[in-house]
Amino acid sequence: MKKNYDVIVTGARCAGSSLAIYLARAGFKVLLVDKATFPSDTLSTNTFFNNTTALLRELGVIEEVLKTNATPVKAIKFQFEETVIEGPIPIVNGEDTSYCIRRTYLDDILLRQAGSLENVKVLQGFRVNELVYNGDLVVGVRGEDRFGVMQEFTASLVVGADGRYSVVRKLVKSEQKITSPSTVAIYFGYFSNIQHDGAAKFEVYKRGENMAILFPTNDNTYVVTVNFPLTNKRLLEDFKSNSEGSLRQLLTDQFPNTTIGARLESATLTEPIRGLHEYENYWYKGMGKGWALVGDALCFKDPAMAQGIHDGIRGAQLLAETLNRNKERLKQWDQIAEEYQQAIEAEFMVRFHMGCELSKNEPISEQQDTVNKLISSHPAVIEKFLGIYNYANEPSDFEEELIKVMGAGAGSND
Ligand SMILES: Cc1cc2nc3c(=O)[nH]c(=O)nc-3n(C[C@H](O)[C@H](O)[C@H](O)COP(=O)(O)OP(=O)(O)OC[C@H]3O[C@@H](n4cnc5c(N)ncnc54)[C@H](O)[C@@H]3O)c2cc1C
Repeated sequence: MKKNYDVIVTGARCAGSSLAIYLARAGFKVLLVDKATFPSDTLSTNTFFNNTTALLRELGVIEEVLKTNATPVKAIKFQFEETVIEGPIPIVNGEDTSYCIRRTYLDDILLRQAGSLENVKVLQGFRVNELVYNGDLVVGVRGEDRFGVMQEFTASLVVGADGRYSVVRKLVKSEQKITSPSTVAIYFGYFSNIQHDGAAKFEVYKRGENMAILFPTNDNTYVVTVNFPLTNKRLLEDFKSNSEGSLRQLLTDQFPNTTIGARLESATLTEPIRGLHEYENYWYKGMGKGWALVGDALCFKDPAMAQGIHDGIRGAQLLAETLNRNKERLKQWDQIAEEYQQAIEAEFMVRFHMGCELSKNEPISEQQDTVNKLISSHPAVIEKFLGIYNYANEPSDFEEELIKVMGAGAGSND
């Protein structure tokens, strides 16, 4: 069978469009399809750290991203009960600025960049329904274009960058390697007229069984998120019937030890509140004969970690690098799959497990509270704590630093 393309990428947001760019640069001929037409929004609170800013620069889109006038963010504040852990987001790869960019902007910018490349053909409004097989080897996709016309395309590799409900993943029956359910409901809304808390920063508050997250985003708005336990059925009902009132009340009543209530008073909700319940953290096998997965199709972790956009883009880079290294032997799928699996697990697994822990929504124990207080009073430990989120360091570096100050504290008590 004659192959139309080297790679067909299903899904054209942060993972799919980035993959198309990386592959095209490596000389692959790519078909990039999405059932959506862009610009288009998706369920996300849009935040990424400066390590992702570096990736966007590398992808050649940073100027376009900056034109969206999002608030530059250089600091983060966690408040666990009464303890504040706050500091500058450590610099990585020469970048000091993190952002929260609406996906209507970010995904469109990435897609346009992909489409500007000679080796990439973009098809918007094309829904993949089936895969084309040659024996057990995936050799293409079949689907419906925006006019309802069925079309078939073939390639050496079909990639599912098609999100949490990935059709490619379902059709190839990729093995689920890990799953860990979340115990929280998430609701978020966009508000204008919210004052910054001092300088603009990412803000995360945990009190009892609830969490509040404030990210400054485009168009002078903040995305304001709450997490609360799924067992709170009354609150779930309240959110269904009056989501804005419930969100405001939860933030005002449950976070009296913060400035959120006062800042919300003069704020205006700019679009309907959206929510997510009963999601899972999961991890699937990433590659098989003629297919691969990237982004949320491969792995989903608690949104409160703000790692999904990063992992979509960086995962695309890892996949493109793996394919490029194996360009001349693209039939040896088992070997290539093993290489890809090792690369993504080495990079993402530790923070994936952190997301699983976060999803359990455990209240802060007395012991954790003591540790938090210790972290908050040592800038070197704060730096390593914050550096986990943007890969400035590994969680093990943070633990090492923490043990050092614990040891010093124990020593001084002797
Ligand atoms: C409530 C919530 C908040 C979040 N907040 C953050 C955050 O602050 N920071 C962060 O980093 N991450 C966050 N995430 C995660 C982040 O949004 C995802 O990790 C990221 O969008 C994954 O990108 P992706 O390209 O893999 O998939 P997606 O963004 O899901 O894109 C998949 C694309 O595939 C297309 N598609 C699907 N099926 C087909 C088909 N059959 N044919 C053709 N096209 C198809 C879809 O139309 C879609 O455009 C959040 C997630 C949720 C749910």
